[in-house]
Amino acid sequence: MKQFQYVQPATQQAVLEVINKPGTKIIAGGTNLVDLMKRGVTAPDKLVDINHLPLKHITSTPKGLYIGALALNSVVSENKLVAEKQPLLAMALKSGASPQLRNMASVGGNMMQRTRCGYFYDTAMPCNKRVPGSGCGAYEGVNRMHAIFGASSQCIAVHPSDMCVALAALDAVVIIAGKKGEHRVPFTEFHRLPGDHPETDNNLPFGELIVGVEIPNNNLQKNSYYLKVRDRQSYAFALVSVAAALDIENGIIQNARLAMGGVAHKPWRLFDAEKLLIGKKASEESFQQAAQLAMQGAKAYGHNSFKLKLAPASITEALKHAAGLV
Ligand code: SF4
Repeated sequence: MKQFQYVQPATQQAVLEVINKPGTKIIAGGTNLVDLMKRGVTAPDKLVDINHLPLKHITSTPKGLYIGALALNSVVSENKLVAEKQPLLAMALKSGASPQLRNMASVGGNMMQRTRCGYFYDTAMPCNKRVPGSGCGAYEGVNRMHAIFGASSQCIAVHPSDMCVALAALDAVVIIAGKKGEHRVPFTEFHRLPGDHPETDNNLPFGELIVGVEIPNNNLQKNSYYLKVRDRQSYAFALVSVAAALDIENGIIQNARLAMGGVAHKPWRLFDAEKLLIGKKASEESFQQAAQLAMQGAKAYGHNSFKLKLAPASITEALKHAAGLV
């Protein structure tokens, strides 16, 4: 591993001064970054430890629920306010990684984690995300875990988070601090598709810091479900996951939120399928129609062809669970 400097600036303002220079990386839990450094995928000159900043709080606000960027995944998943106001988020978090990793991983770090594409981690293989212009090993290679939506000829990787899928479904907003103050970005616009620049995972401006996320109040608590289909029941990334939340009155869907994980370079929100569900009866038939609509534009790359069937089946199943039909 390349030698690096380790610093712990005392304040958020001091952190912003330091991260505004090339070659710096922020470290919180380090559950992904340390792996990347050990394997030579990333080699920062300077690590900026932010663990002491006061960004761990979880509070109820008039508009919704505020979660600090340094709140641990385990703490958020067990928090009473989260369970009461946004149970879908708690469910998604509990399905991620392992208890040990959740005890280290922060909310901001979860958002910033990188793809688990095997070619990205193997420095002997071509990978446009690791070395722009070197090619994509997965495109015609082993791509069982890879994208079926929004990919490009440059990269077909998926974002690995479960938490982010729930936050995308729940219309969360990312709060970002920079030298000019704070600004807010809708969660669905935080991560990006690969296009011609797969080396860039998200739209966090250079030199800025995620300080928290806010989830607006909703009426989706009673009928929500996070379904994660994976190779084993713990410590495995999603083949396909679905965050589903419904507001149902007298059997009719008043509002719907749907997003998928394991299928795209970013959490994949299913806006058209949501619209289709509004005003429909909460039934398996409606859910199958939404699932079919959600699959428009899906494309597989060989080993991941099974996702074309698994994804709509998972959407239907998640909606059935959310509606209490199973
Ligand atoms: Fe690299 Fe993306 Fe291709 Fe994987 S899918 S090898 S991350 S460019």
